[in-house]
Amino acid sequence: MNLKGVKILEKEAVAWQKKKHSSMQLDDYQENAKKTAIYAPEHMIMYPALGLAGEAGEVANKVKKIMRDGIQNLPPDWKHQLASEIGDVLWYCAVLASDLNVSLGTIAAQNIEKLERRKRTGTLQGSGDKR
Ligand SMILES: [Mg+2]
Repeated sequence: MNLKGVKILEKEAVAWQKKKHSSMQLDDYQENAKKTAIYAPEHMIMYPALGLAGEAGEVANKVKKIMRDGIQNLPPDWKHQLASEIGDVLWYCAVLASDLNVSLGTIAAQNIEKLERRKRTGTLQGSGDKR
């Protein structure tokens, strides 16, 4: 194998490790999120889906206030506040995935693979789920 081939293998190995590592972290997060989920079994899927929409709205509302008030008039911890809302979104994503019995790490990995494929094929822009 030539030097170019070795470098490609090294790059693939690093990408695999990163993918595996980040998948494990997300799956660990998902397990911990499940432990704090309190809702009736008959509300599975619906409860976290509605919560996800609500928390995404909280993110949008905070960004709206940044537009309205200007970045210079924001409280010093505005980034922390926005990050906290993103965390709430993540919690609902994790719990919704659990209700579907799907690994959050798998969802993340498949999403990145889809986006990388779209980038390779020049279809990042445009619309439609089947690009
Ligand atoms: Mg919130």
